[in-house]
Amino acid sequence: METKIKAITSNSLDEAKNIIVNGGVVAIPTETVYGLGGNAFDDDAVKRIFEVKGRPNDNPLIAHVHTDYDLLKIVDYIPPYAEKLRKAFLPGPLTLVYPSKGKVSPFVSCGLDTLAVRVPSHEGAQAFLRAVGIPIVAPSANLSRHVSPTSAKHVFDDFEGKIPLILDGGNCEGGIESTVCDCTGEYPVILRPGLITKEMIEKVVGRCGEHLPDLKKGEKAKSPGMMYKHYSPRCKTLLFSAENVENAILRYHAESQENQGVAVLCEEKWISVFEKAGAKCLNLGKNQAEMAMRLYGLLREAETVCKVLIVVEPTEKSGIMVGVLNRLQKACASEDIPHEKI
Ligand code: AMP
Ligand code: MG
Repeated sequence: METKIKAITSNSLDEAKNIIVNGGVVAIPTETVYGLGGNAFDDDAVKRIFEVKGRPNDNPLIAHVHTDYDLLKIVDYIPPYAEKLRKAFLPGPLTLVYPSKGKVSPFVSCGLDTLAVRVPSHEGAQAFLRAVGIPIVAPSANLSRHVSPTSAKHVFDDFEGKIPLILDGGNCEGGIESTVCDCTGEYPVILRPGLITKEMIEKVVGRCGEHLPDLKKGEKAKSPGMMYKHYSPRCKTLLFSAENVENAILRYHAESQENQGVAVLCEEKWISVFEKAGAKCLNLGKNQAEMAMRLYGLLREAETVCKVLIVVEPTEKSGIMVGVLNRLQKACASEDIPHEKI
């Protein structure tokens, strides 16, 4: 199969719609990362997404809809606090999980009585969702566990020959996946940190919980996808905290004696320190938004240019850095943590 990359025009949207209504999958841009989209009502299309990605079949998918889509067609109930969150943050990088039974293909939520829904703000994504007019399930358009894609080229690199069409909407500005927030209880609970932070949610609804399982302790995840080694480049990765830069430098020297192609991924303020030590550096950036936006592109670059990547965690730990750190820790996890089903 030829994989075409096309700019978003009325012709390419017609083509995309045609593929979707015939049960196929199309890669689409969003403001966070690229997604691999299929019809949420079509069992075979949903199964195809899991198959193409090699995604574990207990990791549910997010349904994407346009701004005027009637949410009650696919969810059972919208709690008042979720309504407030919708008003405050949508369209945008926030996924809300609602009670929902039997409304879309059962394969979407892997047997859970809930559905995760997102309304992306990316213009191209909105144009696509309006053109098809149905909810589109779209996990990140990368092979399972590989680094998420923030450009059409990243998608092509993972799926050349496996999908017919990539709609090219440029580089994603957000850079990390949406915040996933459970709206099935008394108050919202963050299941995956992202660009909409706990503090931002608290400002709107007063209270917001966080359920981020400690991977090292093998805690149960309410959001199954949170338990996997994920977002990982295909090179050895070694993670150091910002308080441990001396050790990172020592390790750089030790690894360089044994390997060709050792590089360092760090925030801008450490670049000169590592360059003095002779290291090739990948610059994560100097502020939070920049670090989120650059992260995946740099992890993908790292796997093409180096054998060993020394990663220094950013110093800042709050705000959207909670999400950036979460992705970095998973990208550098050394093995899968066996997870229990919920
Ligand atoms: P991805 O689309 O690859 O970025 O991953 C989607 C994320 O949303 C994963 O962490 C899933 O576990 C989570 N998710 C999707 N649907 C649900 C749901 N119904 N309940 C809880 N988490 C969900
Ligand atoms: Mg993903």
